Amino acid sequence: MKAITALVFLVSIAGRAAAFAPDFDRHFTAQALRIDLHHGGDAARETYSLDELRAEPFYAGSRTNLVDTLNLGEYIVRVFDLKTNALIFSRGYSTVFAEWSTTDEALAGFTRVFHESIVMPFPKAPVQVRIERRDRNRVFKPVFDLAVDPADWHINRERRFRELRVVELLDNAPSERAVDLVILGDGYRRDEMHKLRKDADRLLGALFDMEPFKSRKRDFNVRLVETVSADSDIDEPREGRWKGNLLGCSFDAFDIPRYVLSFSNKVMRDVAGNVPYDAVLILANAKRYGGGGIYQLYAISTVDNEHSAFVFTHEFGHSFAGLGDEYYTSEVAYNDMYPRGVEPWEPNITAMLDSTAVKWGDLIAPGTPVPTPDDSLHADVVGCFEGAGYSAKGLYRPTRDCRMFSKKADSFCPVCRRAIERAIDHYVK
Ligand SMILES: [Zn+2]
Repeated sequence: MKAITALVFLVSIAGRAAAFAPDFDRHFTAQALRIDLHHGGDAARETYSLDELRAEPFYAGSRTNLVDTLNLGEYIVRVFDLKTNALIFSRGYSTVFAEWSTTDEALAGFTRVFHESIVMPFPKAPVQVRIERRDRNRVFKPVFDLAVDPADWHINRERRFRELRVVELLDNAPSERAVDLVILGDGYRRDEMHKLRKDADRLLGALFDMEPFKSRKRDFNVRLVETVSADSDIDEPREGRWKGNLLGCSFDAFDIPRYVLSFSNKVMRDVAGNVPYDAVLILANAKRYGGGGIYQLYAISTVDNEHSAFVFTHEFGHSFAGLGDEYYTSEVAYNDMYPRGVEPWEPNITAMLDSTAVKWGDLIAPGTPVPTPDDSLHADVVGCFEGAGYSAKGLYRPTRDCRMFSKKADSFCPVCRRAIERAIDHYVK
């Protein structure tokens, strides 16, 4: 009798969980809705303007994990069914604007605007789309609301760049149960497509040679879009070099020589939207050391530098798993990216406000001193090492070295590995 009661109880819990989880087929089609926005402001203010709504052929994300439980990113988009007010989709992400809003220029009150997109499954009924940003205490507060009626004839259904050739590099599972990577090239001429293919093979090889990607390779699909630019190479404004590169990748982003960002979001999304994708990797056809990665936006790496494999994997750690920079000695453009006394949302950086409740505490072996001395005795242990997130004091990283800390590290630390596994799980389950 007892056993039967327990069974009934379990069934009712499972039933309730299912009732709370949004039903994909009830709310969405297999296409994607892309909301293109101009996002501008300065350090204190931000505004949004709608550019356009677009219907794209594929939504590649999970059909069961519609509500984001990872709680990563500077922003989150939440989508509600307009009739019932039920939350049917959410996703955390970060933006170019958020980074720019911490620069000297933004602090001085100069305003700029950046183009960005929200990609979500295409709704079957009218929805309310709400964007929230974290305040200084990392609490999400609404910053923009938009109602979308899927029957609205303004939704643009034009297919762009569909003439570009797509090459399947890895095909392991249906896109709703896989991590779908799309690789785009920037600064490759039409006669350099063979080089793009070779560069993609080499850098993907480096990625899938590292844990946890190595063990989880079968959870990934990879498609390469043969993105053709007029010129070879990417922009380098400080040197006066301006190239006809389709995706607008540029060195000197926020005046940091090695920082490469793409400032042509609309084109980038239009090109990527021709295939199902969860994550964008951009190969910048340049020699100089450089790259950039923003959570849920893209990872960019130059391809012909001796450290390209390091940059490619490091930046993908940012864009795919929301990992923070564990280093603290290099020049960056940001001011006060991690306010004192506030725990960062990044899974691999802690302010250690309570040394008995570190967020990766379950990975710290009993007896390990916290904070952990940065010496050879603790070379291979997980602890809390002071110096992380561009600050030598007050922020801590999980291990002495990691792919998110230095070029010398040939692997991700256990804390970063677990964060990557959780990101993979989000797409495949
Ligand atoms: Zn790490």
